Amino acid sequence: MKKVIVIGAGFSGLSAATELASKGYEVQILEKNDHAGGRARVFQSNGFTFDMGPSWYWMPDIFETYFNRFGKKPADYYDLVRLDPSYSVILSETEKIDLPANYADLKTLFESYEPGAAAQLDAFMEQAAYKYKVGIQDFVWKPSRKITEFLSLKLLIDAIRIDVFSSFYKHIRKFFTSPTLLKLMEFPILFLGAISQNTPAMYSLMNYAEIKLGTWYPMGGMHHIVKGMVALAEEKGVKITYNAEVQGFEIVKGKVIGVKTAAGLQEADAFVAGADYHHVEELLGDGLRNYDEAYWDKRVMAPSSLLFYLGISKRLPNLKHHNLFFDRDFTVHSHEIYTDPAWPSDPLFYASAPSVTDPSVAPEGCENIFLLIPVAPDLEDTEEGREKYFEQLMDRLEAHCGVSIRDSIVYKRSYAHRDFKSDYHAYKGNAYGLANTLLQTAILKPTLKNKHLDNLYYTGQLTVPGPGVPPSLISGIVVATEVDKELKG
Ligand SMILES: Cc1cc2nc3c(=O)[nH]c(=O)nc-3n(C[C@H](O)[C@H](O)[C@H](O)COP(=O)(O)OP(=O)(O)OC[C@H]3O[C@@H](n4cnc5c(N)ncnc54)[C@H](O)[C@@H]3O)c2cc1C
Repeated sequence: MKKVIVIGAGFSGLSAATELASKGYEVQILEKNDHAGGRARVFQSNGFTFDMGPSWYWMPDIFETYFNRFGKKPADYYDLVRLDPSYSVILSETEKIDLPANYADLKTLFESYEPGAAAQLDAFMEQAAYKYKVGIQDFVWKPSRKITEFLSLKLLIDAIRIDVFSSFYKHIRKFFTSPTLLKLMEFPILFLGAISQNTPAMYSLMNYAEIKLGTWYPMGGMHHIVKGMVALAEEKGVKITYNAEVQGFEIVKGKVIGVKTAAGLQEADAFVAGADYHHVEELLGDGLRNYDEAYWDKRVMAPSSLLFYLGISKRLPNLKHHNLFFDRDFTVHSHEIYTDPAWPSDPLFYASAPSVTDPSVAPEGCENIFLLIPVAPDLEDTEEGREKYFEQLMDRLEAHCGVSIRDSIVYKRSYAHRDFKSDYHAYKGNAYGLANTLLQTAILKPTLKNKHLDNLYYTGQLTVPGPGVPPSLISGIVVATEVDKELKG
């Protein structure tokens, strides 16, 4: 039996490991931290359960496909509920929109902002549905190692039909003019780590995912997905070793023969790195890495985040499960993320309150709150800087909820660049990997195989297909398929 070592127990590492084990390999995951999930880890304090990263469960079909592949379904591991409203958008101190899950109700809402917008939404969604079908069934499953993978006539026609080459910004303005509707429709694009001007229009598939497939929540918290994936991986025979940071590679004649950990050399026939790509490159050193520092420095990284995990000793009125505070100018904020990286002068932010849906994540009568400001990677991250934003966010949250909050905080933890670096070796303290811009799509992304070493592969949010939980699951399957093909010769 051939052995594969997977570095990192994030979504992509767990996915690659499970796929390889189910193909008959002996698989071991070496994970730096003391539990699985990577950016989707969880922690408990004062009776609160905090998901550390992802909070939006989109594309339930991808999770179905993942578990079905191994003869299981998500319901074997966790209970999903569809959120209604899907989320709330705070446009100003006096205007807020709750996005209904029901499509007919959503159309009515659109029509109230712009006459004819309901019909335009239908037309937009028809195209978006096609893009979702082609994008998700075809494009994202490609290993993207050679241009020839995309050179079939059908794929080229599809690439044009799904608007790979034009921007989402232009595309959406063919359908709507209302600034509010444009704001709503551009929101899902933010998940791809770039602004709509730099995102291919094919990603209107994200609107299809959000509007038609819905926003879901696994009861107990997002970490229940990880728990399910770990249980499945172990069922397939994957061994996970925690507190086992990979510190280097042992290389003989163009092949990795083992990875170095504090416990010694761990040998295998092939290696899949699910840890941050750039970090693995640093461990390899010059001559063996795929890309030099100049290459990485030129990449458009998805944003980092300043996060606050808060336990509140009372329930907060006026909050939904997901709350987007889009009550400031996003042009200025996005400029401060992408064009002229700086701490934002007046940021937009996101507040998640899972205790609105799920009483298990907070003590009775309390609220579990997670606040997120998207910020540029590679900023100087200080305690005082974090506090300044905390005070700003508190002012806005208190104004929105209409009650005092500061005096009811029983737990508070902040998290930003420094933590992303120390917990995950995140390049520039990034949160979501590499942005999905046109010039960082498919074969233009960092490739999933090392060019100098015959048996070293990469998976996760810095390679294909991109950032987010569903793409990370796909990335693991895609790389495992390549490893299997090549190990079998
Ligand atoms: C705050 C935040 C909010 C997000 N929200 C959403 C959301 O709502 N919906 C969504 O779909 N996506 C969301 N994402 C994105 C999503 O979480 C990520 O794209 C996904 O989890 C990445 O998985 P991964 O396997 O590529 O990487 P990671 O999760 O980073 O996993 C890599 C693993 O490698 C380990 N590792 C690193 N170095 C070593 C080493 N030397 N040796 C051993 N192990 C090592 C790390 O500890 C980690 O466990 C969010 C991310 C963040 C940070």
